[in-house]
Order: sequence, then C-alpha cells, then structure tokens
Amino acid sequence: MSAASAIPAARSAGTMFGLEDQTLPGVLSVEAPRAPFVPVVFDSPHSGLDIPDDFRPAVSAERVRVSADTHVDDLFSAAPDIGAPLLKAHFPRSFLDVNRSLRDMDVTMVDGVWPHPVRESPTARRGMGLMWRYAWGNELMHDRLLSVAEAEDRIARYWVPYHQTLRTLLDTTYARFGGVYHINCHSMTAVGHAISSDPAGSGRPDICIGDLYGTSAGPDFVAFIRETLRAEGLSVAINKPFRGAELAEAYANPVLGRHSVQFEINRRLYMDEETRERTAGYSALKAILTRFSRTLAAYAVQQVGVAK
Ligand SMILES: [Zn+2]
Repeated sequence: MSAASAIPAARSAGTMFGLEDQTLPGVLSVEAPRAPFVPVVFDSPHSGLDIPDDFRPAVSAERVRVSADTHVDDLFSAAPDIGAPLLKAHFPRSFLDVNRSLRDMDVTMVDGVWPHPVRESPTARRGMGLMWRYAWGNELMHDRLLSVAEAEDRIARYWVPYHQTLRTLLDTTYARFGGVYHINCHSMTAVGHAISSDPAGSGRPDICIGDLYGTSAGPDFVAFIRETLRAEGLSVAINKPFRGAELAEAYANPVLGRHSVQFEINRRLYMDEETRERTAGYSALKAILTRFSRTLAAYAVQQVGVAK
C-alpha cells in the first residue's frame, strides 16, 4: 500500500480527538481537521493583521503590518483538509511575538523594573524581541514606555493562550500517534533588511527550513522536506538564514518523535512586498504547498503508523 493511500485509514475523524474549531477573538483561531486525522500540526504565528485596541503604536497600521507574514495562513489553508489542525494568530508580531521566549523581553521598553527573567537576546538587541522596539528600520514602534502591567497583560492575553493552544495540539496528536510533525509557518523578505540577522541586501532561497541545527527535528524529516520541495523546482536552504526560534524549539524533542521545523517562504514567490498584494505566482505556490502538505501527511503516517 502506498503511503498516500494509507491516510484514510489513519483515523475516521479529527473530532474524535476532542479537536474542534476554536476562536479567541483578536487572539487566535484553530481550524480543526476536516479529514481523517494525521500526526501533523501547522501553525502560522505571524500572519495576524488585527491591531489590538490597546496597542496604540506610534506608527501607521501599514508600518505595523510590514513585518507580518501576510497570506501565510491562506497558503497553508489546505491543512485541515489533509487531516491536520491549523493554528493562526490574529495579532501582529510587532505587538507581541509568540515566536520569542518570554526571556526575550526588551527591558528598555518598560517603565520601571521588569520583574521577570530575561536573557542576552540577539533578537531583542535588534529591536525584534518579545515586543518590537522598532517598526522595521529605526522608527520606534511606541512613543511611550510600556508599564510593567501593560506588558504583562500582553503576555497573559496573547502569548500564553497561543502557546497553550499549540502545546495542546502537539500533545494531543503525540498522545494518539506516538509522534508528531510540526510545521511552524512563516515568510521572509526576498533579501535581508535593516534589522534581520543576515546582512541587508543578502539574497535568500525560495524556502528556508530551520531545525535549530538538528535539535528540533530528525534529519530524515528535514531531508524529506528538502527533497519534496526541490522536486517542485524550489531552492531550499537549511538553517540559513533562519535556524528556527521559540516555537520550533519549545515543544520539540526529536529523540521522542516530536519534530518541529520553522518553514520560511520567500515573499517574492507570491506577493508584492510594497503593496502586500498577491502576485501572479500565488496560486501556483499555494498548489505546491497543498501538494507538499498531502505528501507530508502520507510521510508522517508512514513514520508513526495510525493512531493508538
Ligand atoms: Zn514569521
């Protein structure tokens, strides 16, 4: 039996796991599987465009949204149809970036003493830590210091529920299958920019897969992704320029069968970076990602078998 034909036998319905559509207005939503459940979870933490009332940024909404992974949730919208949940954040990463550790708080943004642990954080130093100091470049995101209570409130209302929801999706899937494959979905600008980790103007591949240098996913899984995408004619790099961040790292343990990768798509493939509009390549890319998701579902089922 081919891996693809094994999928329908995996589970009869996703809802048997207690997994249902969920919405926390302004914060997140989960689209539950609409097909037999497979051991795959997708999340799109940076595609949210809703600006919370209490954000009060010093820059325009367009400037707030310039760092968003616009359209990425739609590019992976086939996930529920292949049996995998899709978790989406609704708010901008510059307001609160769930792909950061709580210890990546930039304490210079806070009025008073930040009473929680922090670490030496390259992302916070560049202005793109847990809350963004800059709006892409050197424009300040806020024209005020945040009170400790305001910053704590962002964490409690946005970071915590997103992480709890992702963790529940991963744990539930793992408990049923004994393995889980997590695709943490992002997009990247065509070239490096003023506050990126690679130098401004650096060329980038079509796709970058980050596995934190082999610590968040097994090598076979990463090779499967790389070769599947290369067969579609895409250029694929591993860990360069992005090795992965908090969401790929936090809940992964490849030795135990919990695999996470950060999946970065080059925006030149599907959108105009100035207008944020979809370009002519959009539907072709979405078709590739849909085929990839189906192939991934078959791979994952083949690796771990059907649900326990
Ligand atoms: Zn992103």
